[in-house]
Amino acid sequence: MATTEGFDSPALGEPYLLTPGPLTTSFAVKQAMLRDWGSWDGDFRAMTADLRRRLLALTGDAKAEFDCVPIQGSGTFCVEAMLGSFVPRDGKVLVLANGAYGLRAAQIMQYLGRAHTLIDKGDYLPPRGEEVAAALDADPAITHVIAIHCETSSGILNPVAEISRAVYASGRKLLVDSMSAFGAIPLDVNEIRYEAMVSSANKCIEGVPGFGFVIARKSELEAAKGRSHSLSLDVHAQWATMEKTGQWRFTPPTHVVAAFLEALRAHEAEGGVAARGARYLKNRDVMVAGMRQLGFETLLSERWLSPIIVTFFCPAHANFSFQRFYELMKDKGFVIYPGKLTVVESFRIGCIGRMNEDVMRRVVEAARQSLSQMDVSDAAPPRAALDERAKLAA
Ligand SMILES: *Cc1c(COP(=O)(O)O)cnc(C)c1O
Repeated sequence: MATTEGFDSPALGEPYLLTPGPLTTSFAVKQAMLRDWGSWDGDFRAMTADLRRRLLALTGDAKAEFDCVPIQGSGTFCVEAMLGSFVPRDGKVLVLANGAYGLRAAQIMQYLGRAHTLIDKGDYLPPRGEEVAAALDADPAITHVIAIHCETSSGILNPVAEISRAVYASGRKLLVDSMSAFGAIPLDVNEIRYEAMVSSANKCIEGVPGFGFVIARKSELEAAKGRSHSLSLDVHAQWATMEKTGQWRFTPPTHVVAAFLEALRAHEAEGGVAARGARYLKNRDVMVAGMRQLGFETLLSERWLSPIIVTFFCPAHANFSFQRFYELMKDKGFVIYPGKLTVVESFRIGCIGRMNEDVMRRVVEAARQSLSQMDVSDAAPPRAALDERAKLAA
């Protein structure tokens, strides 16, 4: 049982993945993939229905105004499906970017050949409600806004509630990429208004990669008929077929679905979104405190730090090399993640996946030993990094 299973080791000899997904999954999740399922079979159709129902429940949709549509592929497939299905061909999207995933949404709009405009805040400044309001006032052609819930490239938790208020105050519609947040950070439809959101199997629900899902208002799903640029990414068509036959339109990732149901049961047994978020927050707090003691500094101030993934500046010390640090950490059983900032060197440590605070203490100890092996006496970042960070506060 996932609930009684410990956090000691992902499996014999496997390193922990301190990454934003694919991430470390429980043994029970891996074990759930040991059986073959017929995609047309009643048992598998029941699994699909169960999965959709459980995911919807996580949004607090008591009025049954929303529905859940799983889609094969990685998370980006779902972002593309959402934009191609919910934005009318003569619509216009305001993309809120502060990192790689926001820019990717803009790139998708380019591929779609549909009108869009961009607020680009650089690597890590959050898009704020007032500037969204101003942009919407200035351009009446904008019909939709897409926001990234947690921008995984820096780890910043964007203020979606404030953004949502600005969007609906000016009568537009919000779409949310909650890929790396959903399941651990509330996105309750009763508290934050939006038309559709997307996430995927291999992030905070702790499943394995292979599909994502769109959760959208039924009126939007109905209106999406005939709009998509793509057969396989047509959310309305996938939804209509699932409603009618209980089946996915094309070959579903059956083993991934089975694993995901096990992950959803573990999520519920742990205490749902609140408990999952609390474990990640504890992971982050223990890990960040330990890393700061070693002299490392976070890119973001407390206010914007997410419980999902944290960016640290690389130390200024001449003996420090990220590649070497990565290898030394991996030797100790921890796979970390390179940074994605343009101005200064950085790396990231994820807090999500089948890990708890004890594991995070071992991560910090591994970092301490790795620094010592590299003969780095102090992990303090270069001056330029701190100057860059000071801009955040400004
Ligand atoms: C992971 C992620 C995606 C999807 O990435 P894939 O590599 O396609 O799975 C999209 N947006 C955000 C914010 C993410 O963290």
